[in-house]
Amino acid sequence: MNSEKLFELASRYMPGGVSSPVRAYKPYPFFTESAKGSRIYDVDGREYIDYCLAYGPLVLGHGNEEVRAAVREQLEKGWLYGTPHEKEIELAKKITNSYPSVEMVRFVNTGSEATMAGIRLARGFKERDKIVKIEGGFHGAHDGVLVKAGSGATTFGIPDSKGVPKDSVKNTLQIPFNDAEALTDTLTENSGEVAAVIIEPVMGNVGPIPPRDNYLSEVRKITEEKDVLLILDEVITGFRLALGGAQEFYGVDADLTILGKIVGGGFPIGMFGGKKEIMELVAPSGGVYQAGTFSGNPVSITAGLKTIEIIEREGVPGRINELGERMRTALREILADSGVEGCVSGVGSMFKVFFSAGGKEVRNYADALSCDKNKYLRFFHTMLSSGIFLPPSQFETNFVSFAHNDADIERTIEAYKENLG
Ligand SMILES: *Cc1c(COP(=O)(O)O)cnc(C)c1O
Repeated sequence: MNSEKLFELASRYMPGGVSSPVRAYKPYPFFTESAKGSRIYDVDGREYIDYCLAYGPLVLGHGNEEVRAAVREQLEKGWLYGTPHEKEIELAKKITNSYPSVEMVRFVNTGSEATMAGIRLARGFKERDKIVKIEGGFHGAHDGVLVKAGSGATTFGIPDSKGVPKDSVKNTLQIPFNDAEALTDTLTENSGEVAAVIIEPVMGNVGPIPPRDNYLSEVRKITEEKDVLLILDEVITGFRLALGGAQEFYGVDADLTILGKIVGGGFPIGMFGGKKEIMELVAPSGGVYQAGTFSGNPVSITAGLKTIEIIEREGVPGRINELGERMRTALREILADSGVEGCVSGVGSMFKVFFSAGGKEVRNYADALSCDKNKYLRFFHTMLSSGIFLPPSQFETNFVSFAHNDADIERTIEAYKENLG
């Protein structure tokens, strides 16, 4: 069956025909047959160079052989124990070694779960209810953070989801990204009531928006001064920008860190971790409850361990950051030559063309929202026809992986040139 038929069928059984909103685009999304390295193949016999990469986890590209072998070996020994096992300690050690601010961790199954529990922990530790998040920041799909949320919530025009009780979000305060003054003002107005500030160090779910100058160190300083915990959501940046994530890359630290995506090597995972003094409040050692049947399952842990081992051994962040830089430089030139209104945003292996009016730089959610998302969708389709799979939304990030070679990059730059010109 071809993608069109499959989508028709899928739409009968699943809302919008998909298991996660952003995957749906008009007239129908391609259905995947298989994927390998930098390539993804659809059931209609087409091949694409993949820059969506499952929205972040596949830093090594698709189907890495070493990860496959490690997972196979683990499958022989079982895939779910419901007991502790040694590899959890190994992965915890890898993480704590790479992230000096993280002394203890709890493994969960998704990034959403990790931010939900991380926020609960911060509230439990500070015994305060309010949190501050960034407008357009995305921390998963649970009630307390679905206000002005990025990702599919923004793409589909529902950044404040229906079905979220007002009471669930009355303690969620919002400030714009890259505006330290707004943070100071909000924490001053709500003095003694805010438990934590949760922030993506590089916004990744409204398209990539890097922090300006010293923004992150200012955030760190302000949160310390105001006695509020800083939660860095490194679900995208962790093990990507550097082994030690944005914390190493920008030289900041956090009270609590959220990881996911790459840490599971393409299998479901999430993690929250931080200072021992805070983490010891998590059950069973403390009174903040958190639990999960699949948490710490040996398959996700094994895939994550192997992936991090390769990232370290092969210097993956250095390589993909260089490819990202090459891509951004080329795209800036192409945009300038084409006369198309837009800008190139990103950092490290994350990049994106925003169709911003007058080519204005995108520095926060409001800037991203002002971009021409319909123009982006038309562009997405022309790129798809040229064999390049970008995320189907102006508000998602393009990633380069370790599996992308120089020829892939060249071909992609050519496709941008043709389709933007
Ligand atoms: C993807 C993402 C999440 C949610 O992770 P899931 O595994 O999809 O639940 C949370 N925070 C950020 C920054 C993300 O990019």
